[in-house]
Amino acid sequence: MPHLFAPTLTTLPVVGHAETFPARRVYCVGRNYAAHAREFGNDDRDPPFFFLKPTDSLQAIPMGALTEHPYPQGTSNYHFEIELVAALGRGGKNIPVATALDHVFGYAVGLDMTRRDLQRQFADQKKPWTLGKCADHSAPIGPIHPASSVGHPTDGFIRLAVNGEMKQDARLSAMTWSVAEQIAHLSGFFELFPGDLIFSGTPEGVGPVVAGDIMEGAVEGLGAIRLKVV
Ligand code: MN
Repeated sequence: MPHLFAPTLTTLPVVGHAETFPARRVYCVGRNYAAHAREFGNDDRDPPFFFLKPTDSLQAIPMGALTEHPYPQGTSNYHFEIELVAALGRGGKNIPVATALDHVFGYAVGLDMTRRDLQRQFADQKKPWTLGKCADHSAPIGPIHPASSVGHPTDGFIRLAVNGEMKQDARLSAMTWSVAEQIAHLSGFFELFPGDLIFSGTPEGVGPVVAGDIMEGAVEGLGAIRLKVV
């Protein structure tokens, strides 16, 4: 049967591959670095939790080049969150921690951009975070580096600078739950599939940007992405 209109397929480039990575779901982990949980007044021993962003909120950012990132409508407090993203090449249910990394195709540098004013407003009202977390273009992401080339990053730096000033500077080893533990946990609630992405949480130091700001986010071994807020 023909479609009424062209379906949207969100794809991401893969370093060293002619084929692109077709994105499926975008899972995100909340409060996965203790110091970031504390900066919002939460207990750093709370288990992490998950939310989703729309797949078409992904904004593919080429490595190196300065890419324009549109400031979204409906907010006056738009925050950066630098994150390591795991891109799954194999799915499954009830995946054990010990073999969870076998399901990861590769990794990328990502940003979980957030309308912090709306996230807080709705959280205070015990309402969903959707308007805070799911803005169009709110998931900028660099190219995917295959784990076959870069391994499984567990201890490198994770950093974000705004206009050349370091705002977030932490180690991946400071995650409360590792990527393997995230996959194991998630797969107990959802069947995971190839193409699923997991934004693995942000360290402390999040803050706002305004039009004209230049954000540079990097994870050790995965290069850097550069965005100009417009
Ligand atoms: Mn986040």
